[in-house]
Amino acid sequence: KIEGIAHTPDNEPARQLLSDKIKPLSYEIFLASTKMIDLEKTFPSGSQRKILLATMADFRASFARSAVELEAFLRSADSAFHERYRQHLAEGQRYLSNLAAAPSALAEPQHGQLVLLQDKVAAYDTYAAKAIAIRQTEQWNKALKLLASEAVPAARAVVNILRDLSARQVAKMAEVSQTAAAIGDLAVASSLGMIMLTAAATWFLSSRSANRITQPVAALAQATEDLAAGKVAAAIPVTRHDEIGRLTESFNRMSVVLRDTQQAVQASERQIRTIIDSAPNGMIVVDRQGDIQLVNSQIETLFGYPRDRLLHQKIEILVPESVRPYHVGYRDSFFANPSARPMAEGIDLTGRRSDGTEFPVQIGLNPMATESGPCVVASVVDMTEQKRAADQLQQQATKLAAANDLLQQTNKDLDDFAYIASHDLKEPLRGISNYASFLLEDYQDELDTAGREKLVTLGRLCGRLESFIDSLLQYSRLGRVDLAFGEVDLNAVVEDVLESLKISLEEQQFTVRVSQRLPTIQCDQVRVAEIFRNLISNAMKYNDKEDKWIEIGCQVAQQVVHDVAPGTPIFHVRDNGIGIAEKHIDSIFRIFKRLHGRDRFGGGTGSGLTIVKKIVERHGGHIWVDSTPGQGTCFFFTLA
Ligand code: ADP
Repeated sequence: KIEGIAHTPDNEPARQLLSDKIKPLSYEIFLASTKMIDLEKTFPSGSQRKILLATMADFRASFARSAVELEAFLRSADSAFHERYRQHLAEGQRYLSNLAAAPSALAEPQHGQLVLLQDKVAAYDTYAAKAIAIRQTEQWNKALKLLASEAVPAARAVVNILRDLSARQVAKMAEVSQTAAAIGDLAVASSLGMIMLTAAATWFLSSRSANRITQPVAALAQATEDLAAGKVAAAIPVTRHDEIGRLTESFNRMSVVLRDTQQAVQASERQIRTIIDSAPNGMIVVDRQGDIQLVNSQIETLFGYPRDRLLHQKIEILVPESVRPYHVGYRDSFFANPSARPMAEGIDLTGRRSDGTEFPVQIGLNPMATESGPCVVASVVDMTEQKRAADQLQQQATKLAAANDLLQQTNKDLDDFAYIASHDLKEPLRGISNYASFLLEDYQDELDTAGREKLVTLGRLCGRLESFIDSLLQYSRLGRVDLAFGEVDLNAVVEDVLESLKISLEEQQFTVRVSQRLPTIQCDQVRVAEIFRNLISNAMKYNDKEDKWIEIGCQVAQQVVHDVAPGTPIFHVRDNGIGIAEKHIDSIFRIFKRLHGRDRFGGGTGSGLTIVKKIVERHGGHIWVDSTPGQGTCFFFTLA
C-alpha cells in the first residue's frame, strides 16, 4: 500500500503543487521579465534607461534565485532554504515596486508586462506559501506518514510474531532428542538474536522507505513461521548487503542447522522404528492420549491382533477389563513423571488377548520424545513360561521345606532316643561296674591272678563305656535344648578358658597368643566357651614339638569362603602340633572317631570335635580345618 502511494504524484502534495502550479508560474514570470528587458533594450540608451534595465535584470535574477531556494526547501525541509527563498522573493518584489514607482518611464507594453509580473509573482507567492506550509506538516509525504502510523506498528507486530514463533520453536525443540535439543538451543539462541536484529533493523530502516523494510521482514516472518510449523524453509535469497542482508544470511544459517537437526531426528526416529520392529520382546509405542502409535510383530503374536487393528486404538484394548478403569490414571501419572521404569513393580500384571484370554506379562516403560509429542515405549514380555517355572520352583521349595522339617524332627527324635537310651544304659552299667568291684574286693582270695585281672579289665571297660555314654548324652542334649543367646565378649570367654587350662599350659610350656582382639557377638556363652576349650585342649594334646605354641584369632571374611559370606568374622585356633593327614580330615568330626590308639596323646572318646561341630552348626556357622602333617593344624569356624 505504502509503496503504491509512494509512486503516485499525490504522495507529496507540496511537490505536486510545485510541478503543477509553481513551476509553470515561475516560467511565465521568467518569460515576462525577459520580454520586458528585451523591450527596454530597444530604447535609446540614457542614464535613466540604464537604471530601469538594471532593475529589471535584478528582479529576474532575484526571482530565479528564490525559485531555486524554494525547490531546495521543498526537497529537504531545511529552514535555511526557506529563509533564503523569502529574502530573494522579497528582493524581487522590491525591484518590481521600484519599477512600478516610475510609471512614466516605462513604455506602454512594458507597463502591461509589469502588471502581469506583479499578478504572477503574487500568485506564485501564494502557491509557494501553501507548498511550504504542507512541507512543514507531517502530512508532507503520505507514504512516510503511513509508514509511521501503520508500517511501524505492523513491524512491531511482526517482531512479536517472531518472538512467539520462537517460543513455539523452543517448545518444539524441547520435545526432540537431547542432541537435537542441544542444537535446537543454538538455533533458538540465534532465532532470539534474530528477533533483536529484526527489531533493530526495522526501527533503523523505518525512517527510510516502506517497501525496503516490509518486504524482507515479511519474508523472514513467513520463513520463520514455516520453520516453526515444521516445514523446512527454503533459503531466502540474499539480495542486499546491508543489515537486512546479514539478517537474512543468519536466518538461512539457522534454517540449515534446524533442517539438519530435523533430519537427524527423523533419521533417529526411523532407526528407533527399525529397532522396535526387530526387538525380540513385544514393543508398543503409545502417545499421551493412550493411542497406540507403533507395534512390532511380537505384539501381534502375543496378543493375537493384526497390526492394523491395534494402530490408533487405545492401549486399554490390551489390558484386562477389570483393570481398564484405573489404567487411564496410571497412564497420566507416567506422563506427569516420565522415567524409565518397570510398570507396577511387584504386582503381577496381566495382558488380554484378542480372544479375551489373559496371560501374565512383565512391562518395562521408557519415555520417548517424538515429532508428534511425548510417547512411552512399553516393552512387553510374556511371563507364562517364567511363571510356570516359578510356580514349579515354589512347589519344590515347599516340598523341600517340608522335607527339612521332617529331617529336623527325625534328628530331634534321634537325639531324644540317644538321650533316653544312654540315660537308661548308665544305671545298669553302674551296677555292672559296682559288682565287678565288689567281686574283686570280696572274693580276691578265692580268685586266681587271671580272674582278678579280668575283673580289673571289666571295671576299666565299664569306665570307658560310661565315658562314651556321657559323651553321647552331652551330644544328644545339645540337639534338644535351646541355646541361650546373648551379647558375648569373646575376649572374656577365651581368657576364662585359658585361665582354666593355665596349669597344664604352663606345665607343657605352651606359648599362647591371641593375635587380634575378638568381637562381641550374639551367641550362647557356655557353648562357645566349650568350642574354644575343646579346640585349645586338642591343640595341647596333639603336639610333640619342643617349642609349642597356640594362636587364637579372628579375621573378617573378604570373600565367600566355605559358604561364609563376606564380612562374617572367622575365628581360628592354630597350633604347631602333629597335624592331620589329608585322608582323615573328613572323619575327625565323626563321633567316637579317634585317629590314634586308645591311650595315645592323653586318650579320649573321639567325640570332642563332633560336639564342637554341633555347637557351631546350631549357631548357624561352619567349621573347617587346614592342616599339614608334622607342621600343625588350624581349625576355622564361624558363629553366624
Ligand atoms: P579326641 O581328642 O577325644 O580323640 P576329638 O573329636 O577331639 O576326639 O578329635 C578327633 C581326632 O582328631 C583326634 O583323635 C585327633 O586325631 C584329631 N585331632 C583333633 N585335634 C587335633 C589337632 N589339633 N592336631 C592334630 N590332630 C587333631
